[in-house]
Amino acid sequence: MLRLLDTIAATRAATAESRSRGSIGFVPTMGALHAGHASLIQRARSECSTVVVSIFVNPLQFDRPDDLERYPRSLETDLELCRKDGVDFVFAPSVSEMYPRRMEMAVDVGRLADHLCGRYRPGHFKGVATVVLKLLEIVQADVAYFGEKDAQQLAVVRRLVTDFNVPVRIAGVPTVREPDGLALSSRNQRLTADERRLAPCLYAALRRVAASVDKGVSNVSEITRDATTAIPTDERLRLEYLELVDPEDFQPLTRVTSPVVAAGALWVGNTRLIDNIRCTPPRTSA
Ligand code: AMP
Repeated sequence: MLRLLDTIAATRAATAESRSRGSIGFVPTMGALHAGHASLIQRARSECSTVVVSIFVNPLQFDRPDDLERYPRSLETDLELCRKDGVDFVFAPSVSEMYPRRMEMAVDVGRLADHLCGRYRPGHFKGVATVVLKLLEIVQADVAYFGEKDAQQLAVVRRLVTDFNVPVRIAGVPTVREPDGLALSSRNQRLTADERRLAPCLYAALRRVAASVDKGVSNVSEITRDATTAIPTDERLRLEYLELVDPEDFQPLTRVTSPVVAAGALWVGNTRLIDNIRCTPPRTSA
């Protein structure tokens, strides 16, 4: 039976009581749940005795007020999906429950936020790391599940729990895509039919990066120049970045000599989409 909880105290009490029955799996989300979230929930369900999902649109991580305002919210359908996937607890706090007063402290994410989304969304990862630390303290799960779709976020969270000795295992879950390659995202709902048709070109560009790396091309400017040809010239499309970074520290690379993360952000009309893919070069004959 799914229980909806909206206070920190009730959530702490519920998870404390569940702990004696076995491990607790936690899936933090901002709601508007789709099959990508469901994949995280199903993984948690298969590995843990108790599954907790949080639904909280965190104002701290939004760098643009209009994005926060327009962010899709659909608690009733979200609860349906959670019920279907066997979630035990949904923690859906109000903003005032999470932030009863202005936060004085925040997590400094350091160099991990210098590039990609960190560069274009000032304060975003500081807001993410701060809310994730709060949520981990509230739920006190054994395992927390995050999507590889948000690769930089996953790297920030992994480093957060290492640097602050948070006793939780972080599990990364592969990106769920539409048949045409578009990564599922709550923001996809905002696309018009025409924009939706254009949107898969971001993944197509990343596939081109993977193909070049596969062939042994190592010069990053050559790789990205070729990849951007997958983005059609169209006034609705604006590529914000397409970069190759080190999978651990997310610093940009100029040559590919070991596995890399290729990541991109594309504006499609008024909607900003992100995606990434891991690429491994062929083994060099040493
Ligand atoms: P969000 O609600 O967008 O904050 O996402 C909550 C969690 O779901 C994050 O860990 C995301 O990385 C993950 N997620 C979002 N979209 C996908 C997807 N298409 N495939 C896998 N995980 C996803």
